Amino acid sequence: MNHLYNLLIILIFTINNTTLIAQSLFQKQLDSLLLVLDKTTEGNDRVDILNEISYNYRRIEPQKVIEYGRKARKLAIVNNYTKGEAIAYKNMGIGYYKSSAPKDTTIGFYKKAIEKAKVVNDYYTQVACMNNIALVYNENLEFYKGIQFLLEAIKLYDEHYEKENRLKALMVANVGFAYFKLKQYQKALTYLERALNISADNNIPSIRSIYLDDLALTLIGLNRLEEANEVLDEALTVQTRQGDMQSVMQTLLHKMTLAIKRKRYNEAIGYANQLINKEQVQNFPSLHMVVFNKLAKIAFYKGNYQQTINHSQKAQKIAQNLGLLTYQKENLEYVHQAYEKLGMYAEAYKVSQQFILLMDSLQSSEKEKYTADLEAKYQNQEQARAIELLNERQNNQAIRMRLLIGITLITLIAIGLVTFLYLKRKQYSDIIEAKNQKLNEYIGYNMELENFAYITSHDLKTPLRTIVSFTQLLKRKITAKLDATELEYLDFIINGSKEMSTLVDDLLTYAQIQGQSIQIDAIEPKVLVEDTLRGMQADINKKNAEITIDIQRKWIRGDATKLKQLFQNLISNALKFHKPDTVPVVNIALAEATKYWIFSVKDNGIGIEKDYFDRIFLIFKRLHGKRKYDGTGIGLAICKKIADQHNGQIWVESEVGQGSTFFVSIHKNL
Ligand code: ADP
Repeated sequence: MNHLYNLLIILIFTINNTTLIAQSLFQKQLDSLLLVLDKTTEGNDRVDILNEISYNYRRIEPQKVIEYGRKARKLAIVNNYTKGEAIAYKNMGIGYYKSSAPKDTTIGFYKKAIEKAKVVNDYYTQVACMNNIALVYNENLEFYKGIQFLLEAIKLYDEHYEKENRLKALMVANVGFAYFKLKQYQKALTYLERALNISADNNIPSIRSIYLDDLALTLIGLNRLEEANEVLDEALTVQTRQGDMQSVMQTLLHKMTLAIKRKRYNEAIGYANQLINKEQVQNFPSLHMVVFNKLAKIAFYKGNYQQTINHSQKAQKIAQNLGLLTYQKENLEYVHQAYEKLGMYAEAYKVSQQFILLMDSLQSSEKEKYTADLEAKYQNQEQARAIELLNERQNNQAIRMRLLIGITLITLIAIGLVTFLYLKRKQYSDIIEAKNQKLNEYIGYNMELENFAYITSHDLKTPLRTIVSFTQLLKRKITAKLDATELEYLDFIINGSKEMSTLVDDLLTYAQIQGQSIQIDAIEPKVLVEDTLRGMQADINKKNAEITIDIQRKWIRGDATKLKQLFQNLISNALKFHKPDTVPVVNIALAEATKYWIFSVKDNGIGIEKDYFDRIFLIFKRLHGKRKYDGTGIGLAICKKIADQHNGQIWVESEVGQGSTFFVSIHKNL
């Protein structure tokens, strides 16, 4: 839902009708400036007026901003008037920014302006340009770069100006906004509040009204919902007073989202009705659509499935008119589930087909967005490291994993569909052929490495869920008509799909471990192990296991979350692979070597043959059938990865029938 929301914001700001109001105001000012220009023929004054005209055109006609900026620069050079030249460059940067020129062109002009302003110690122009450069970076999702420029600009401002003004408040608020976009809500809040304080202390109320919505969304991010609601109420009052209908509608939408989050559905419906009844909403079809989409969601939560379908269809109609594929997909998701709930399986099936087709069409655009997000995400100092980790994913193991998922998925879906169609007396045999071909292509595209997490979490899970729920529904519906063998086939599909689901979850964990850098904390290992055991208490009690811990109280360094996961895997294996009729006895210990800490998890289980000591740490390597001991064969591979990330190793010593001891070393200097 989040990207849906972001898209909406972009759309709303694109259709910007406030320009019209601004135009008449600026036009008046411009007319008088043009008159003055006619009378001023020579010197620096003329440069100043040209610059003034250029700047005034910024909300009316970007081309003119550039044109007058250019004239000002030319004359400034002739007159050797460097300050005027700097301002001309700044204005040209604004002109290029407003005409959506490439990022580097715009930034180039601002940098030139800064260079000139430095010569004449014009700090204000420097600060303004740095703020403008930050805005360009923010727009390109390069928020860390944006923040860097803003912080430098604020520093320069503070060094040279005592009184805080609108520009200072704007810069501080922009830092808050960038942190908000980066989902670092605590920092965002600090800066936004600071900006609002500046605006209160210096009587600049416009800043407060501009940033109230961002403040509310930040509070929502921090789960401070009551306060967020109060801020939104204030925003509504201010915006209504200013007659800014566009902002009022946007705030009402935020209020609706917040009410849904707080499960206050009737209140949310109230806001929806207020929005729909506003005449101006017709000018903002995207907003109209999102309201219907949210209404469909509410109806779904309330169990009004027919209403879900009606609302979704309204939203869908607008989405189709606007050609917005992402929305079309989101809208279909509810329709498909609503039909399923109503028992209208043929319709549900049809809609899920459309859903898959849309997913195909979206593939390339989402991939672009995903890549852009990635670029933005990794641009800070972590960049080099994160990219290295991404590359690491491009190893053969990852390709093998994906192939395996691909093949299993095709097989599963094929079996599911064949059975479905068989039970429907082969009615849809041509559809399945086309669908299989589509799926093959689909999986082909998805072999792209960067999309791995996306594929596993989204593309694989959705069809899997569809298979599981449809076969379960099918089973419930036609059990009486099937013989024992047919029922058994159905159970095969259901169980197969569930196993697949576990496999996908485990693979995701594995992929995430691969991709993450480790976070070093100071840890008390004894407390960490006790914590882990507390989480496994149910399993321990069920097996009547005896667990002992031999760890002295001390502090070591490591990634607490990952080490917890490691112990959980090792201890649950120790419990799982116990000898029948024997109580599992497990000992967890910590020893100290020169450069390493060495943990051990010892059990009295079935043991492992020497030949397999190395192989069990490879992904998917298991020594027993699923019937005897369940599992996916990923646990130890995850442990190995975690040991590697701690610059250590994992190994096992064991005797068949006697038990096993798993050792994990982690480096002391992390
Ligand atoms: P899984 O969870 O499927 O068992 P793991 O990667 O955790 O996967 O383990 C791989 C294999 O190593 C297991 O299938 C099992 O054969 C063997 N193994 C792991 N831990 C133990 C243990 N404590 N005792 C005996 N065999 C073990």
